[in-house]
Amino acid sequence: MSAAPELKATLTLPQTAFPMKANLPQNEPLRLARWASLRLYEELRKAGRGRPVFILHDGPPYANGPIHLGHALNKGLKDFIVKSKTMAGFDSPYVPGFDCHGLPIEIKVEEQLGRKRLELPAAAILGACRAYAQKYVDLQTSQFERIGCFGRWQKPYRTMTRDYEARTLEAFYGFFEKGFVYRGLKPVYWCIHDRTTLAEAEVEYEMHTSPSIYVRYRLTSDPAAIDPRLAGREVYTIIWTTTPWTLPASLAVAFHPDFEYVALEANPTPGAPGLDSETWDSKSPAPVYIVAAELAASVIAACNLGKTTELARFKGAVLDRIVFQHPFLERSVLGVLATYVTADQGTGAVHTAPAHGADDFLTGQRYGLDPTCRVDATGHLRVDPEAWPLAAPPAFEGKTVWAANPIIVAMLEERGALLAASDLEHSYPHCWRCHKPVIYRATEQWFIGMETPVKRADGSETTFRQLALEEIDKVVWDPPWGKVRISNMIATRPDWCISRQKIWDVPIAVFLCEQCNQPIVSAQLNRAVVALIEREGIEAWRTPAPEELLAALLPAASVCTHCGATAFRKETDILDVWIDAGVSWLAVCEADPDLKTAYSAFQNGEGTPVLYLEGGDQHRGWFHSSLLTSVALRGHAPYSHVATAGFTLDEQGRAFSKSLGNGVDPVDIANRLGGEIVRLWVASVDFREDMAASENLLQRCAEIYKKLRNTFRFLLGNLSNSVPLLGTLTSFDPVRDRVPEAELLPLDRYMLARTRDLTEKVLDWYAAFEFHRVYHAVNEFAIVDLSSFYLDVLKDRMYTFAPTSHARRSAQTVLWQITETLVRLVAPILSFTADEVWEHLPAVAGREASVHLAQFPKPAEIFSEDPAPLLEEWKDLLNIRDLALRLLEDARQDKMIGKSLEADLHFLAKEEVFDLLKRHEGELKELLNVSKVLVLNGAVETGYRTPTKEKPFFKTMTTSNYLSFAVYSASGHKCARCWNFMPEVSAYGIWQNVCNRCQSALKEMGIDPPQPPEAAQ
Ligand SMILES: [Zn+2]
Ligand SMILES: [Zn+2]
Ligand SMILES: [Zn+2]
Repeated sequence: MSAAPELKATLTLPQTAFPMKANLPQNEPLRLARWASLRLYEELRKAGRGRPVFILHDGPPYANGPIHLGHALNKGLKDFIVKSKTMAGFDSPYVPGFDCHGLPIEIKVEEQLGRKRLELPAAAILGACRAYAQKYVDLQTSQFERIGCFGRWQKPYRTMTRDYEARTLEAFYGFFEKGFVYRGLKPVYWCIHDRTTLAEAEVEYEMHTSPSIYVRYRLTSDPAAIDPRLAGREVYTIIWTTTPWTLPASLAVAFHPDFEYVALEANPTPGAPGLDSETWDSKSPAPVYIVAAELAASVIAACNLGKTTELARFKGAVLDRIVFQHPFLERSVLGVLATYVTADQGTGAVHTAPAHGADDFLTGQRYGLDPTCRVDATGHLRVDPEAWPLAAPPAFEGKTVWAANPIIVAMLEERGALLAASDLEHSYPHCWRCHKPVIYRATEQWFIGMETPVKRADGSETTFRQLALEEIDKVVWDPPWGKVRISNMIATRPDWCISRQKIWDVPIAVFLCEQCNQPIVSAQLNRAVVALIEREGIEAWRTPAPEELLAALLPAASVCTHCGATAFRKETDILDVWIDAGVSWLAVCEADPDLKTAYSAFQNGEGTPVLYLEGGDQHRGWFHSSLLTSVALRGHAPYSHVATAGFTLDEQGRAFSKSLGNGVDPVDIANRLGGEIVRLWVASVDFREDMAASENLLQRCAEIYKKLRNTFRFLLGNLSNSVPLLGTLTSFDPVRDRVPEAELLPLDRYMLARTRDLTEKVLDWYAAFEFHRVYHAVNEFAIVDLSSFYLDVLKDRMYTFAPTSHARRSAQTVLWQITETLVRLVAPILSFTADEVWEHLPAVAGREASVHLAQFPKPAEIFSEDPAPLLEEWKDLLNIRDLALRLLEDARQDKMIGKSLEADLHFLAKEEVFDLLKRHEGELKELLNVSKVLVLNGAVETGYRTPTKEKPFFKTMTTSNYLSFAVYSASGHKCARCWNFMPEVSAYGIWQNVCNRCQSALKEMGIDPPQPPEAAQ
């Protein structure tokens, strides 16, 4: 004897194997394995053949640590672009890169090797650097893959491969042979701890305490030449410096030609510095000091000059080429003019040491001053022997710059030249690696000259700098301020110092004559060195003796063409690491089989887009060095588009730091919440601004994710036709069950129009890299349009109508179309989940193995009409719905009704409002989820119907002259199956109170009226 079947077993409730709980940390690695077994990246390349190409060229992250949130953001954005371009019909190969050479790795390796490194041959240290970099290439690869980034991870580009090293060297020789490269003495940032040059980008400003001293320089030329009133007086100028160690290199004092200077007679209070100097006693006339008029008051106070009298006033221009005596060396110091002298600080008379300052150096060049540097690589001072009168060296001889400071201050004091001394805490350049203060030091370096003459494509003459600026103009900068930023940098940058004094990078592989110091310039020799590096790596330059190497490479070159000498030395400097990364367009885009055809189309001006996307600091880094190398070697920019991301900060806008403990580790988030959550966070932020991240914000993304997932689950559930009583689970079959667009119910048509509208917008936003807009629009669609509205109002139709009914199939057609659309629209961002949804969609012949092989939907294929008029009409209708829902809610508060199905709703409307409601009278019951709707013409009818005696409740609401509503307790009787109040309910077999609509549905489903178990036997 079987129990009588229950009525609720005849409902078609949602049914899907798509799980509610995602278990992302466990399931994502399984999906990664599936993608690997599908060889998905290779399949994408195959599918892309013949399509237009979009190149996103990867900027290589530095391979010296695990990835941080900035990396995850960078690779996440790139992945969105590559995937969305692929789905938009492009072939978008992505070859990830890694920056492997350079100081940070070499320093780490040196630390690890300790003293042992001193005994090791260079090749062994280079080997250790290679292993170190490779370790992090592997780690970062696995971490980027873990968060779902597609790319050619099995064969990335690494700046340390032999091939890449050879290409980098080739690029250097390109500069060298085209005349961009020169050797010169130049003050550069120098770390005396790491014993290397630092680029601007490798210097960080930190607080540092320096001695702040005022020193007087005695005039030795004729004071009357400055102003007749100074005739016969003891005249000085006063300089201010915070680097006393640069005074032995002091060769000039700079004045601003346009500033007013004053000559002040001093009356120092007794005991003040300078009072008892040999050159002045109480009987002689008081000393006279020349300083800038604007700074006079502060100098008088700082140097304790007492009550002063202004003897003369003149423009700085008259001080050109006056002569002073160096305060402790036997040297004349020249008065020079310079417009960089400021009146913010100091005295308006600037101590000038051409070996130790960029401005000083240039001024020195104008006046023919010697920039020889007497501070060695380790920061130890040597005195200029020609300027030192004594046999015994000065006390600062052989001391480091820091140790020399107090010695020099004492020396100045002893000689009466020191007017004031104190300590100054100020922002000072420090080495980015060791965080020790750096110095400016003139050294022999290799440079690329920014003013090198070059030719434009049309053959006209210009300079390298100018051509680079012109090329910036042709690039699309996103956001646009990037253009201004990089233009300013290129316009004002000094020549590019490309040499470093370390070993872990491509050598400046040049032979220099031992006798005349000239390099061998031979294209043939250069090709031979490139071939050698390509074969054996940069190690091949280090070991052999120069003669041996030269004899092996090109014996014919082993006589100096300048002086005939036959002894050579190898240059041991290496290239600036920015050259490596900066030539990736040459080493990768021009050479890689997956990129070169398309890249050459770009270079030939055929319109193939080439995008670079990195953080905003790359205007002076990779964007910058790539631009310069490509303009110099190919005559044009290496990219057509440059997009810039802001920085990741915590919720309070602070940078992430260990000490604050505010870091967000993307790997940890992937392991705890899922890689998908990291991706969703990346999509949620506007990457062009600075972006906030925190545990809290990531958790919020996880909540949003749950909602999106649930929406997909509900959509998929409604694509099944599962009636428990019938025990059959069939799925919507798009071929068999799909309702033609023209026959869809009005609500379903509206939702299709809405889906088309969303799709059009989302596709535009993907094209413009506006991922945060995609994120917000998709969320709103899933949560507001679907969960709270469409899926909710459809429940009656989906659960109670027969699966074969037109109305249910109309809804299912649209739910299917929405799911097919949405899964593709979110695939670039929710890559794991979209692919999971894909597997649960109703089978379609010829469906791709992964959503990532599919294309974006075409808006016109979703809905054939312009959606705008329909959306406009429904906007009004839904506004009225909102008002009616408010009235229903009031009725519920008044305990007049429980569920909204216990209500009938009457509208009393006039004119257009009446027309609108009348047109949609058929939909209103479903939209409001009430049992009955009546639309009354307010122009004809005088008022609402009177409620019945049995159900006297009645509540109205008037919104305007044109519209009011009334809610009634539902007339009719409650159906036990659909819970609607219907005019008639009756027994269907043993089931009592079943409405006519449900009875028809049951018949359509082939469910006969069930009999009591006894009767059935
Ligand atoms: Zn350092
Ligand atoms: Zn020579
Ligand atoms: Zn019913």
